Amino acid sequence: MKLKKLIVSDLDGTLFFIDEAVRKASMNVIGESLDYAGVRSLEDKALKSEIYDLYQSRYKSDLEPNQNLINFFKKCSNDYEIIVLSAREITLQKDTEDLLKRHKVPYNKVVLRSRSDLSIDDEVWKSEFFKNKINNYEEILFYEDKRENLKLVASNFKNVDKIKYFLVSGSKLEELSGKELSKS
Ligand SMILES: [Mg+2]
Repeated sequence: MKLKKLIVSDLDGTLFFIDEAVRKASMNVIGESLDYAGVRSLEDKALKSEIYDLYQSRYKSDLEPNQNLINFFKKCSNDYEIIVLSAREITLQKDTEDLLKRHKVPYNKVVLRSRSDLSIDDEVWKSEFFKNKINNYEEILFYEDKRENLKLVASNFKNVDKIKYFLVSGSKLEELSGKELSKS
């Protein structure tokens, strides 16, 4: 049987730009308009997740589609299975699928974190996902806005050259070599 090809894509910061929504949510929670990088550097985890919850719910209409990437996925959708892999909580499954449908993002499946997985760091959780997929595909393209997520997968699959790594920063897209990533 011929092995299939797979695209694995992150959602927040990758398929959708989130800074505007995050700024509004952070203003609401801490009275300060921080961007995503600013919120990520907050030490208080509870505060951080309160801001994340809020931008994904109340400010979801401020999420801005990464149209270049979405158009590219449309072109790939005949040849690749597309899985959206996001560390969002599973309670947002319907919201997330509605968002993807509204912006005509092609996908076969959306995989979110179950409540019991929420305590696991998102890069570790994502890396586990690859462990279960790796043998079933001939090629996997992985899109992420967090370098550390790419890096951990690259480090855990050092000898696997069928995974290709793409860093999304704003509208820019950069392919990174797995070897370099795992060393960096
Ligand atoms: Mg992201």
